[in-house]
Amino acid sequence: MGIEIRVARHAGFCFGVKRAVQMAFDAAAQRDERREKGSIYTLGPLIHNPQVVRKLEKMGIHPVDTVEGTQGGVLIVRSHGVPPQVLEEAVARGMEIIDATCPFVKKAQRKVAELAEEGFIVLIIGDRCHPEVQALLGYGKGKARFLEEVTPGEVFSRVGIVCQTTQSRESLNRGVVKVLETMGSVLEEIRVCNTICESTQVRQRECKTLAEFSDLVIVVGGKNSANTTRLAEISRSILGETYHIEGAEELDPRWFRGKKRIGVTAGASTPDWIIGEVVERIKLIGGNGEHGGEERDHSRGTELFL
Ligand code: SF4
Repeated sequence: MGIEIRVARHAGFCFGVKRAVQMAFDAAAQRDERREKGSIYTLGPLIHNPQVVRKLEKMGIHPVDTVEGTQGGVLIVRSHGVPPQVLEEAVARGMEIIDATCPFVKKAQRKVAELAEEGFIVLIIGDRCHPEVQALLGYGKGKARFLEEVTPGEVFSRVGIVCQTTQSRESLNRGVVKVLETMGSVLEEIRVCNTICESTQVRQRECKTLAEFSDLVIVVGGKNSANTTRLAEISRSILGETYHIEGAEELDPRWFRGKKRIGVTAGASTPDWIIGEVVERIKLIGGNGEHGGEERDHSRGTELFL
């Protein structure tokens, strides 16, 4: 019995991550061309994918937790961005900056800075611990707050709202309602900036459809990738037979017994080559936990159904 493999159209790298990884590869190539020995750093892993981070390490691009302790070299700013204070410190330490902040994240940073300059208290909606939110708070220069940390008695008359790019519209709506409910009596002006990037929403919508029309869904991506984990949760809420794996070697032939429609999706930090390896291995495993899956043209383009 053959199987049908459906790969989500937007599985894998989003625009911002693809751009950041390319910038890192280019930086390593330029250093090698010039026969320079200088170190290249990223603040934290460039992307949440262990295979890519290992590949970058081999190219001499090392993640560090902080710029303290470094001197000179190149700092690649990740797609999440960093607070301006960190950039200033890196420059003071003689580091060359390659800014791979995603343009959509940059737009959110600009909004925070503009609102703060205009005298608004900027309330940020998102995941408090996420580096993108940390950076956004930094651009508020003391006037930005994390919405969830505003205490019940605190009210402001001029409020700006900015969202982490990967949040859903529902969470933005909830945030706006919360501000209106708690501060409505003193609010003179509220300015809401929709800084949501559609990439995340598109992937999540596709994942839902994939789960609805599959017997088994494989979600590919780093276990430390929040957006990949979220895809697995969305799929699992519809289809129990959902597995989150980091690479093809984790596929268990037993999962595929009796399954015909296999859905594959991947987080925004999963490169195409890992998705390709997973699809190839699924074809080998086939629908009965054995070799002999239906032969299809396996270029990504012909397997995209959503
Ligand atoms: S999810 Fe959107 S905002 Fe975030 S890096 Fe990707 S393209 Fe940029």
